[in-house]
Amino acid sequence: MIYLDNNATTAIDPRVTDVIADVFNSGPANASSQHGLGRVAQLRIDNATDSISVCLDTPLDQPGGPRFLFTSGGTESNNLAITGLAEPLSAIIISRIEHPSVIAIAEHLLALGREIHWLDVDENGVINIDELPQLIASCRNRCGLVSIMSANNETGVHQPIEKAALICRQAGVLLHVDATQSIGKVPLSLTKLDASAVTISAHKFHGPCGIGGLWLGSGVRLRPLFHGGEQQLESRPGTEPVALICGMAEALRIATDELVTNRQRMRSLRDQFEQSLRAEHSDLVIHGATADRLPNTSYLSFPHTDRQSMLMSLDLAGVACSSGSACSSGSSPPSHVLIAMNLPAKLVLSALRFGMSKFSTSEEIADAVYRISRSYKHLRNKKDVEN
Ligand code: PMP
Repeated sequence: MIYLDNNATTAIDPRVTDVIADVFNSGPANASSQHGLGRVAQLRIDNATDSISVCLDTPLDQPGGPRFLFTSGGTESNNLAITGLAEPLSAIIISRIEHPSVIAIAEHLLALGREIHWLDVDENGVINIDELPQLIASCRNRCGLVSIMSANNETGVHQPIEKAALICRQAGVLLHVDATQSIGKVPLSLTKLDASAVTISAHKFHGPCGIGGLWLGSGVRLRPLFHGGEQQLESRPGTEPVALICGMAEALRIATDELVTNRQRMRSLRDQFEQSLRAEHSDLVIHGATADRLPNTSYLSFPHTDRQSMLMSLDLAGVACSSGSACSSGSSPPSHVLIAMNLPAKLVLSALRFGMSKFSTSEEIADAVYRISRSYKHLRNKKDVEN
């Protein structure tokens, strides 16, 4: 199988597996225990936190300074941020292209009577940042939180989060950034960004599934989602998964150390992929092609077929890709991202996402292009005969 679904999840780096195995094999470890093994576990968490602090360029050892909460992943961090950051009666602004783990919790709060406002995007899938000050003003001092992702998981298009951070700072409003797709693909300094909260998830950068984090800026308060433990200063109680935490820190270290090489490599593979496919099929549409995009992401519409048939055909042909967000690909509703970009139904209903990783090779890409091209020709001919 040629794996081109790296925005859904990535293969774990063997160096990360070694670290995790080492921790698991070193005996029981509950960081809250008051014996030697417990202290070793806590030390491992402290060392992992120090390493994360360096990689994300944020101090994590100063009382009252920024904090990093370990969570079960991006979905939990996003839910925690949306429910726990803003004051209970304040309004929340989110963009229309956020991940379902932001949109669904915002819709849940809306159903409970909360004021939610939506930030639109342009035809390239970039949020209309110039509308943000007006939208905040329209909440009449009641805006408590803005949530904008750093890069979209479907199109890969970067969002103007630095501008959003500036606007939110000037307006005195908290900003949460879902940076799940950016880590390991583009550099990110949390000190420079100066947002209020940032989500990350380890399995998107060759770390383990089931571990992620929510970074909180200095003085940012959070109401917890979970109750019943004193871990992580009660902000996210529950026994810490020490092995996964160490695995995430190692994955982040590798992603940071090798970022420049991997970014270059993924970009050239993505360009090879798009150019070869376009050379054979001039009708293909590349979403966000003229926008600044993640180096690994290619979101394509195959206008003479539908995405479900194409996805199945590619699965049989040995190419793994997805029809939008993995979290919704089981039921596969049309992409809310492409709908927000105002694209015609024909393009929305024929879009597939491909994502390369540092493990992808040029041979694999050439082979994938051949298989994709063959599947598309086959489905297009079949459709022509049916018509
Ligand atoms: N946000 C974004 C932008 C994502 O791409 C994903 C994963 N599809 C998530 C959040 C959820 O992360 P996790 O799978 O770790 O829950």
